[in-house]
Amino acid sequence: MKDDNCIFCKIANGEIPSATVYEDEDFRVILDLGPASKGHCLILPKHHFADICALDDEIGAKALPLAAKIGVAMKRSLGCTGFNMVQNNGTSAGQTVFHFHIHVIPRYDGGPDMVSWTPGHMESEELAAVAEQIKKEL
Ligand code: AMP
Ligand code: ZN
Repeated sequence: MKDDNCIFCKIANGEIPSATVYEDEDFRVILDLGPASKGHCLILPKHHFADICALDDEIGAKALPLAAKIGVAMKRSLGCTGFNMVQNNGTSAGQTVFHFHIHVIPRYDGGPDMVSWTPGHMESEELAAVAEQIKKEL
């Protein structure tokens, strides 16, 4: 399953060169061209899935352990003390390349604040109502 118009399909399958840090039969992990911090990686499946909703269960199950492996390697090699995983689905969520990918972003002590939000507030009745709304669709 490849999409001829998808740049991440071409990168994941080696048709376009990339700074590759890991490769196996299912995935290629590359450095992001516009890194949020030094070592920012993208985990790309070799097959095309537009987003997490389209993702094959087997590939999905392999993606998280791979992200952990990359994060551990980043800590050992780059000296980061933590890492964020970011995975955008949909334009409103910031997805710009519609081939499923996971960002693994090293975080350094004293580094800039990233991947954060201002916590809002919701009363318990409203929390319960929203939970019911979502539950109905599961
Ligand atoms: P997203 O906004 O979650 O879809 O993330 C897309 C990411 O892909 C961005 O962080 C871009 O910097 C990165 N990106 C786009 N094109 C390339 C490329 N050719 N090689 C490496 N990273 C890329
Ligand atoms: Zn693709």
